[in-house]
Amino acid sequence: MNDKCVSFNLDNNLFRGRIVRLDNVINEIFAHSAYPDNIASAVAETTVLGVLLAGLMKFEGLFTLQMQGNGPLSLLVCDVTSDGKVRSCAKYDAKAIEEAQVLRKTEGEIEPAPHWLGQGSLVFTVDQGKNTDLYQGMVDLQGKDLAECALRYFKNSEQIDTHLRLYVEKENNLWRAAGILIQKMPTDYKDSEKENDLEELWNEDKILLDSLRQQEILNLELSEVLFRLFHEHQVRIVGDKEYFFGCRCSRDKLLNTLSGMKKEDITDMAENGKITATCNFCGQVYSFEVGELLKH
Ligand SMILES: [Zn+2]
Repeated sequence: MNDKCVSFNLDNNLFRGRIVRLDNVINEIFAHSAYPDNIASAVAETTVLGVLLAGLMKFEGLFTLQMQGNGPLSLLVCDVTSDGKVRSCAKYDAKAIEEAQVLRKTEGEIEPAPHWLGQGSLVFTVDQGKNTDLYQGMVDLQGKDLAECALRYFKNSEQIDTHLRLYVEKENNLWRAAGILIQKMPTDYKDSEKENDLEELWNEDKILLDSLRQQEILNLELSEVLFRLFHEHQVRIVGDKEYFFGCRCSRDKLLNTLSGMKKEDITDMAENGKITATCNFCGQVYSFEVGELLKH
C-alpha cells in the first residue's frame, strides 16, 4: 500500500510535477462512510486532486478543495493538513442519482463527477490559522471530468500551463487512486527561438504523460513510473511526502456549532431530550443532551 506524493522536475527545472498514489487513505475513507460506486469514484478523484493541489503549495495549516453544484451530487470536499492528514466526503441525493441512472439506462456505469454535480464551482482555500490571510481560488465547474475542471482554474486564474490526469479503480472491493500533474515554471525568455524549444519540450512531456497507463501508475513504484515516462527529459525527484487518513472532528467543535443554533431549532431536532450528530467525514457519532446545548 502506498500513500505518497512525489515532487519532481523535468527538463532542467523548466517544468515541475507531482505524482500521487493513495491506497490506504481511500479505503479508510470508504471504511468510515459507505457510498455507491459512482459517488465513491468521485470522492476518490477529489481526494487525489486535493493532495496534488495541496502538494503544489507551501503552507502550514489546512488546504481545502471543494466542489459544489446544483445536481444530485451537491458537494465534494477534501481537506489536507500540512502534516499529511487527509479526509474527504460527499453530499448527494441517492434517490435522484438512482432515478437519473434508470432514465438514462446507465445503471452501474461510473460517470464523471461534473455530470452529477451540475452547475456550480470549484473552490480551494488555504487556511494558515489566526492572523493570516485566507487564500482562495475559484472557477466555474466546467469540463468533462474533475481533472478538466481543475485545469480550467490554472488556465483562467493563474495562467500557468498545467497538464493533469486522475486514475481511479475498484478491484475486489478495494479502491486505488492516483494522479499526476506537470506545470510550466515561469521563465523570462525574450527570444522566440528559446520559447519555441520550450513549447516543443512541453508538448513532448504532455504526450508522454498521456501515454501513462492506469495499470502502471496503480502498480509500480512512483519513482519507476517517472523514470519510465520521462527518462529522456532529465526527470529529477526533489522530495516526497506521506499522507494518511485523519479526521479533525471533535465533540467540542460540534458542541460549539450546535449550541450556536436557535433555541427552537435545537428543541425541534431533539429526540427524547437528546441530539445525535454523525461526522460526514469519519462516521463518528456524537450525542448531546439538549440541556447541555442550551446552557452552553
Ligand atoms: Zn470526523
